[in-house]
Amino acid sequence: MSDPRDDLRRWLAQQAEAGHQRVWFEPRPAPAVLRTAAEAADTAAQAVPAEPSGPPEPPAPLRPAAQVAPPDPDARARKAEALAALDRTQVSICTKCVLHSSRTRTVFGVGNPDANVVFVGEAPGRDEDLKGEPFVGRAGQLLTKILAAIGFERDDVYIANVLKCRPPNNRDPLPDEVGHCEPYLLAQLDVIQPRVICALGKHAAQTLLRTTSALGRLRGTVHDYNGIPMIVTYHPAALLRNSQWKRPTWEDVQKLRALHDELVAESAGRASPSVDGDSA
Ligand code: URA
Repeated sequence: MSDPRDDLRRWLAQQAEAGHQRVWFEPRPAPAVLRTAAEAADTAAQAVPAEPSGPPEPPAPLRPAAQVAPPDPDARARKAEALAALDRTQVSICTKCVLHSSRTRTVFGVGNPDANVVFVGEAPGRDEDLKGEPFVGRAGQLLTKILAAIGFERDDVYIANVLKCRPPNNRDPLPDEVGHCEPYLLAQLDVIQPRVICALGKHAAQTLLRTTSALGRLRGTVHDYNGIPMIVTYHPAALLRNSQWKRPTWEDVQKLRALHDELVAESAGRASPSVDGDSA
């Protein structure tokens, strides 16, 4: 039987050959808890609820959230303070576009300020506008399950949107709104310094990549967003409407997890001295 990890190995190797220099991959023994492809596909099916039944049990994590190097509490505190200052002094008081007049709250972002992976959605919806936190409605609950299926807690990652204010009736963001708001996202990324970004859905992906290409064409490639590798997948809200996108989403987030693990391992290798005493 073929090794289910071979697909990911091949994909990572292709990305490296295609010039995505930050992708490093050497075959190495996978963690024993990595499951077979069949088990993983079952997990994906459970992660996305079939309508209209209630939410399924969260799937067992594929792997524990790997931290190759122990997290640095000083970096986390410093980044948390920098993000809080950005929110307090700029985002929460922003009146640069018309959306400020209809918002209940700005929706800055949530999660680990020192995260290795940042998920970026389009804009807050009604629940997020009321609570001031991204992805807390039905789509957000599904995102939490998708994260669990690849071994992440919500608090392991950082979650944000391109827009920090809700567009009325959830209409698509307008170019001037993106123009004013995207610098806040860039500032967040500048503080967090993630290894990888995951764009959730067509609008986030097209906006960030300055393209009108269909989501289907943007998936399956590692893009570059201001020097940070970026993967694109379906928006959780789209999965609630179209169950046939569950499996491709599962494939995307498995690749995201594999890329995350490789990039984290690569940076840990660079940071720690090798066994013979040389610096990496
Ligand atoms: N959809 C998004 O794109 N972002 C949210 O925060 C909620 C729903």
